[in-house]
Amino acid sequence: MIEMQDVWKTYADGTHALRGVSVQIDRNDFVYLVGPSGAGKSTFMKLIYREEIPTKGQISVNGFNIGKLKPRKIPYVRRNIGVIFQDFRLLPKMSVYENIAFAMEVIEAPRRHMRKRTMEVIEMVGLKGKHNSLPSQLSGGEQQRVAIARAIINNPSVIVADEPTGNLDPETSWGIMNLLEEINFRGATIIMATHNREIVNSLRKRVIAIENGTIVRDEVRGEYGYEN
Ligand code: ADP
Ligand code: ADP
Repeated sequence: MIEMQDVWKTYADGTHALRGVSVQIDRNDFVYLVGPSGAGKSTFMKLIYREEIPTKGQISVNGFNIGKLKPRKIPYVRRNIGVIFQDFRLLPKMSVYENIAFAMEVIEAPRRHMRKRTMEVIEMVGLKGKHNSLPSQLSGGEQQRVAIARAIINNPSVIVADEPTGNLDPETSWGIMNLLEEINFRGATIIMATHNREIVNSLRKRVIAIENGTIVRDEVRGEYGYEN
């Protein structure tokens, strides 16, 4: 469902972030992206959610050629991909409810479905009763749960998570991993960049290691493979 063929990404300043990446990620896969800082992990994910386009090569997501997408098709592809960041990226002046419902408004979902669906995902991520809170009134783990609810509300087939546990303590991180596993169990493909050795080595999944813009390792139920 996600396929890259000889993908290169060179930024405007000449940095080669990806150098000839070819990979196939099947529907319902759970993939850890590992590798040193600056290796190209974020770029890999940005290409999938079309924050960036490849300099050379092809990427297809659910059959759409992402690099050559007609502008009017971009919303279709984006609503099929939920994105989660290390720093949560919530809107600080909006409540939990508003932060999450906003993602449905953006895609112009029917209003009559919004309240029910928003309350449903709030419950699914374990935040029942917190819908009126502001992000600043929540712990880091709770804020990440809001971000996850926002990512899944439109039922995307792919979830891209850039170090989702990077700002969380170990116990809270495990709660977030349980949630991502549940989302994967319900059918979403998960691609997660991480520096978390304990999680990768205990909750075994496919591991793709990127170094210097190329894939150096791709293993089913792999190990983290770095000292930290
Ligand atoms: P990005 O993916 O946003 O370009 P980096 O991959 O450089 O950023 O790092 C993302 C975050 O992960 C940073 O906040 C950094 O502190 C943390 N980090 C980087 N390397 C490691 C590591 N080896 N172990 C744990 N955390 C790391
Ligand atoms: P990672 O997520 O593994 O830390 P990134 O994909 O963020 O790696 O970065 C890969 C390389 O591309 C790094 O050398 C980084 O400095 C560079 N890079 C990332 N974004 C940009 C940008 N917008 N412009 C120029 N260079 C960039």
